[in-house]
Parts: sequence; C-alpha cells; structure tokens
Amino acid sequence: MDIEDTLLMIPGPVKVAPRVLRTMSRPMISHRSGEFGAIYSDCRALLKDFFETKNEIVVMTGSGTVGMDAAVAGIIGRDDTIVTISNGKFGERFTEIGERYGRVVPVKFDWGTPFDLDKVAAALEEGAKAVAMVHNETSVGLTNPAKEVGNLARKHDAIFIVDGISSIGGNEFQTDEWSIDIAITGSQKALAVPPGLAVVSTSPRAEERMLPKSASYYADLKAHLKSARKSPAQTPYTPAVPLFYALQEALHMAADEGFAARRARTARQAEAVRAAAKALEIELFPKVNEHTHYSNTVTAMKMPTGISDDKLRGGMKKQGVVVSGGQEQLKGKIFRIGTMGVCSTSDILQTIQTLELVLAKEDRLPQRGAGVEAASKALGI
Ligand code: PLP
Repeated sequence: MDIEDTLLMIPGPVKVAPRVLRTMSRPMISHRSGEFGAIYSDCRALLKDFFETKNEIVVMTGSGTVGMDAAVAGIIGRDDTIVTISNGKFGERFTEIGERYGRVVPVKFDWGTPFDLDKVAAALEEGAKAVAMVHNETSVGLTNPAKEVGNLARKHDAIFIVDGISSIGGNEFQTDEWSIDIAITGSQKALAVPPGLAVVSTSPRAEERMLPKSASYYADLKAHLKSARKSPAQTPYTPAVPLFYALQEALHMAADEGFAARRARTARQAEAVRAAAKALEIELFPKVNEHTHYSNTVTAMKMPTGISDDKLRGGMKKQGVVVSGGQEQLKGKIFRIGTMGVCSTSDILQTIQTLELVLAKEDRLPQRGAGVEAASKALGI
C-alpha cells in the first residue's frame, strides 16, 4: 500500500495536515535572523497556552527524549537524588536517564497498573532533589496522577519533572495548576508536526535550582533559555528550521480550533475507540483507579484470544490502516490506537471498520457493525 493512501493511527508520529507539510518546503532562512526570531517567539507564546503555563518555553531540535535528557541533566548532579516513577516503558526511560547523571530512587509498578501514591510519598520522605514521572504512559495507554504527585513534590520541596510527550494538547494537562516545574512534549504527538522537536517548559523554581553547568552540552537548558531570551529569539545551535515552520503553522491550526476544543474532540475520539472495543468484546489493557484514567491519546487493548499480532495488525495494514503493537514484554499481547492532533471522525470510523473486517475474517466478530455503531454513538453522529 502506498504511504500516501495509508491511515496512520499510531500514538506518534501522527498524521500531519497538508498545510503543515507544505509550509516546510519554504526556502531556508538564517536562524540568526529577525524572520526566524519572529517564528520562534510566536511559537513560544502559543506554546504557553498549549502547556497552560506562564513558565518559560524552549524548543529544542531532537525528539522528545532530548527534552527528558535536558530536564534531568540540568537538575541532577552526581550527588543529587531523583525519584523516578514508572509503570511502563517511558517511566523506565527516566530511570535510565537519571542513572547517567546522578542517584536514582526508582519507584516501579507493573506495566499498566496505577501508581501507589503512598510508595511515592515514602520515596520522597528519604529526600530527593527532583521527582520525575510520565503523565500519559504511551506504552500502556494510562494517564498517571500528575496533580497528586505534584502535591507530594511541593510538600517535599522536590523539583517536579513531567514527561507530557503523548499528553500535552491531548489529555487535560495543567502545568501551573499541577506545580510542574519542567514539562516536556514532542512535536510528533498532539502538536501534529513531524518528529524532530522537543518542547520544554521551565518554572522560575526549576531555573533557580539548575546546576551551574549541565552535564549535557547540546541539551543544556540554561543555554537554550539564554538564547530564547535574546532579541531576536534564537536557539544555541542550528535548529531544524523547516520543523519550526511546521510548528508555527500547526500551533495556529490548533489555536484556531481552540486548545480546549481540540482536547475535548480528542477525548470524544478516544471514547469512541473505547466504546468500539467494548462492543467488539476487546478488553482494555490498563488497570485504572480513582487517580488514574484511560488515556485519551492512546487506547491500549488486549489482543483478542486466538488472533496473532500479525493477523490483526498485519491484516489492518493490508487494508491501509496502521496501528501500533505492544512494546517489549507486551509485544504480541496488546495493540494500540492513537487519537491525537488532527485525527478526524472518519479516521476513527475507518479504523474501527477495518478492525471489524479483520475480526470477521478470523471469525471473532461478535456482531457485524457493532463497533462502528458504538463508535458513531460516542462521536455523536
Ligand atoms: N515519552 C513518551 C510518553 C512517549 O510516548 C515517547 C514516544 O513515544 C517518548 C517519551 C520518547 O519520545 P521520542 O521518541 O520522541 O524521543
């Protein structure tokens, strides 16, 4: 199948609007020029609303992980301690990053199970300079309790670092309300820009406690902040200029729709996927409690018994719809559908219809059209 005819329904990179793709073919400009500075300043201003913050914003060239790296390297020195909370692949990445720079107290939960906040509190009692968590754990389709951990971080005077990479702009995410000192997203998720940019917000408190010298040269947050504050606004090193064009265009698209309206649409679309799963007798993978929600940006579902990953995802791909599988120990056990950015109603319905087709072929479809009907109802059509 030609990629031009393929519907990409994975949790990032996501579909990019044609007008965003087109803007990247504009001629190059100097990254030290007023033209670039104007684009960067416009993006920084819009991103404040996108993040629901008054904090400073920097945009780094590199994928989301460079933002995670920058956050930890800027705060944690050899003798500092960071508590890292994980219940999936990306939480574990914070542990791995922390180990490069300082001391880590990992608070680990089984993949896809909610945090036990008492365990987080107990780890913080021991004293830590920072605590890091993933808000939306993409690997398991779970939204973790950032507000509650933010309260614990404040109580223990720890810098609060949150990976909002697959969350900001899709799920509810209140940087300032939840006391988040450093929040991170990536361009290929709810921003609906191609991969290659990380966006990082930093509070005055985080800035005060930054190390005099980050152990990372390229991802040095202080250097990025210093350049961003110049007039015209700059980045310390040559940025991926076409991606900045795309970011500006995509942010204006999102602002025209309304950031809150986009989040509400994303929530409806995820609800439609969940409703279809129920109608098709497919179990959702993560466990939820009163502090934890099913993600609105990625729905993780158990592979129906008797169907292989190859049959399900391979069958869907043959029909032109690409969904994700499970990562690491969840390979072959779950599949995931992304709902972020400029995903449309017809994208959702096409995905569910294709899933039904594959299930029918494997003799696993409870009732013809049940998934599409449930999804349509949730979408209000
Ligand atoms: N954190 C989360 C929650 C993610 O979903 C991802 C990517 O899927 C990452 C981190 C890593 O981001 P990147 O692959 O852009 O470096």
